[in-house]
Amino acid sequence: MAISVAIIGSGPSAFYTADALVKSGIPCTIDMIERLPAPFGLIRYGVAPDHESTRKVSRSFDKTARGGGMTFFGNVEVGRDVSLAELRQVYDAVVLAIGAPFDRPLEIPGADKKGVHGSAAFVGWYNGHPDFRNLDPDLKVKAAAVVGVGNVALDVARLLVRDRKELEATDMADYAVEAICASDITDVYLLGRRGAQHAAFTIGELREMGELDQASPVIDAASLPTNFDDVAEEDRRIRQKMVEMLRGFAGLPQGKPKRVHFRFNCAPKEVLGGDRVEGLRVERMRTEGGRALGTGETEDLPVGLVVAAIGYRSPKIEGAQFDEKKGLYPNRGGVIEPGLYAVGWAMRGPSGVIGSNKIDGQTVAKTIVETLAPGTKPGRPALEELLAKRGVGLTSYAEWLKLDAAEVARARPGAPRGKFYAVEEMLKVIGRG
Ligand code: NAP
Repeated sequence: MAISVAIIGSGPSAFYTADALVKSGIPCTIDMIERLPAPFGLIRYGVAPDHESTRKVSRSFDKTARGGGMTFFGNVEVGRDVSLAELRQVYDAVVLAIGAPFDRPLEIPGADKKGVHGSAAFVGWYNGHPDFRNLDPDLKVKAAAVVGVGNVALDVARLLVRDRKELEATDMADYAVEAICASDITDVYLLGRRGAQHAAFTIGELREMGELDQASPVIDAASLPTNFDDVAEEDRRIRQKMVEMLRGFAGLPQGKPKRVHFRFNCAPKEVLGGDRVEGLRVERMRTEGGRALGTGETEDLPVGLVVAAIGYRSPKIEGAQFDEKKGLYPNRGGVIEPGLYAVGWAMRGPSGVIGSNKIDGQTVAKTIVETLAPGTKPGRPALEELLAKRGVGLTSYAEWLKLDAAEVARARPGAPRGKFYAVEEMLKVIGRG
């Protein structure tokens, strides 16, 4: 009997797992269970809209989906429509490929004020994610702070200073294009709590900050390190290069209408204001042995918007052991326990590039085929029966292709697609509304 595998989620880690299982040559029935009618998770809703080339990886996922080796179950939510325990009862293997769609909280006084957003919510908002389409951040402010200096922080800062022409050529949600274009933001502060040698962004993404049409990067060259002893030896060369790039930014001519200020050794301490953000108190830090230590010296930044891009957490699914502190599922090489696996950010936390998920998928697929063949559980027919009994209106990959075509057809001129934002709207388009 074929091994029956349920993969929960349909982002990169899910598709790489499915692909590796198909390519193993061992008979498997693979069912991908996705909460939304649209697949691709992080690729569709996390990747910055002005990084369309990164999204092209979904073409190979599309090939996997159409190849006949797997089945897509859209509009089915584990926890609501079917439990993990039920899936484990009927599938030989269940793989958590659920990513890390929740924000790590910014734990400073005032972080609950209006105008403070986590990057998962903010990115989901501009990318038209059904959960965040109503976020409605107030951008009628002059300055914003983005906490963190990873690639997500750069995405948010860059998109806040792009102009209409640049944004309209992307698939950014219409409402977000309008809000950003109507915004008064001229200054964005990017805050790294440690020295620039420890910034988490990567060099290609940093380079873009020096090439923006409307905004100049601003940095005090005197704030940049010359000593890299506290950086791991294998990272030193690249970190030196990034700091040199930042030093180059300091020498660029200013004069563009907007600015992105890089502030290192600068930690958020308190969000100021009444009900809503009126400023951000930051503390000057010093970095010692790779750690940020407070100096007690503070400054108030006059910002009206704070986006915390400080990392993500996986959702907790009933029935699997979860590490609350790290926000992921403890595992060994992707094995949570026999029959239950994790891949991608659910497995190792929110780090690495999209390609990192390929290795996770291959590792877990190898373990599944080596330890579970031949399969013993029915899988798909049992799930279909259960969902039918509950009246769950699942959607197929063919229906996604219909939705996809409708999105491409309604794109703004020059843009790749015009997403539908609400699940009800998506269902209507595929004739299920
Ligand atoms: P990240 O790379 O882990 O960066 C998180 C940043 O937040 C770090 O600068 C971290 O500083 C800071 N931080 C964490 N807690 C903080 C706190 N309490 N106060 C102040 N600062 C805090 O995470 P990310 O930017 O969310 O990215 C997630 C992953 O997706 C990364 O692997 C990233 O490279 C990837 N990604 C890639 C792209 C791309 O390739 N274009 C785009 C987006 C995301 P410390 O280092 O001091 O902890």
